[in-house]
Amino acid sequence: MKKLSVILALLLALGLMLVACGGTDEEQQNGEPGQGVDDGAKDRVDDEHADWVKDVTILTGGEAGVYFPIGVAIGDILDANVEGMTAAGVTSGASLVNVAELDEAEAEMALVQNDMAYYALEGTQMFEGALSGFQGLATLYPETIQIVTTADTGIETVQDLVGKRVAIGDVGSGTEANATQILEAHGITHDDFSVEFMGFGDASTALQDGNVDAAFVTAGTPTGAIQQLGAVTDVRLVSIEAEQIDTLVNKYPYYTEVEISADTYGLDTDVSTVAVQAMLIVREDLPEEQVYEITKAIFDNLQVLQNTHDRGHDITLETALDGMSIDVHPGAQRFYDEP
Ligand code: GLU
Repeated sequence: MKKLSVILALLLALGLMLVACGGTDEEQQNGEPGQGVDDGAKDRVDDEHADWVKDVTILTGGEAGVYFPIGVAIGDILDANVEGMTAAGVTSGASLVNVAELDEAEAEMALVQNDMAYYALEGTQMFEGALSGFQGLATLYPETIQIVTTADTGIETVQDLVGKRVAIGDVGSGTEANATQILEAHGITHDDFSVEFMGFGDASTALQDGNVDAAFVTAGTPTGAIQQLGAVTDVRLVSIEAEQIDTLVNKYPYYTEVEISADTYGLDTDVSTVAVQAMLIVREDLPEEQVYEITKAIFDNLQVLQNTHDRGHDITLETALDGMSIDVHPGAQRFYDEP
């Protein structure tokens, strides 16, 4: 009798387990048991996206830069083409602010300079502690360090900036960091000139009004802020001498030597300077599948970026990992590895 009740209990337990498994299977396939096939298909899509971040914010830079139009266009591409999420590009103080916000999980994606992304993760240069929580999605286009002045200031060399009022970008921008490195390569410190912190748009107005004598701009060319200035006054760009370019390229591995051709802004001559790369970064805790779909949508819609700004033409699948300074998100890597 006792044996029989043990066997019955075992059979009952087995039966319950089978029912439980059946129920779970049905739920996985159809959402809730008893739902129609169509509803089931919809729920399957929802299930696939269950761990996705539904609203993706892309941090860019100021409105007079290039991050902003490109970042807004990327937001539009994702919003229209990736099911299961919304996306939008928003203005910000640019690179340093952007990496800090991703570190604090305040946003999901950002445009940043490849040098700044690297220094942020290492906790070197301008970063006092190492940041974390983000990975690379793609490198995009060259960002050129442009030292802008007007004909009437008489500034012709970097050395001429000593004693002048110089805008070096927003506080916490990559521009500020590049300006500091470039001036330092010329033996110039912040004590040698009047430091003005402002974004590109404000710097352009201040140059026009004679409130600053020069401005550093690290951005894709042509940069809206410089074009706006060129429309009302005679713009000059200051070259960096070959010796200092060598010093910079040797000391900071992400600088490359570039020429800005005179016709970019209707200048008298070509200008020698250095450039870094703009890149897209993404929070590393975004699901692999979501980042795969994001990467795919961007590279399936490059035409939109080409129509947005000249530098959109530099964004290609072939060059997406050139100058990549940090680990690539596995979702993006999966897309790049596809045959
Ligand atoms: N590279 C710049 C920075 O991080 C921003 C460039 C832009 O807004 O286009 O300071």
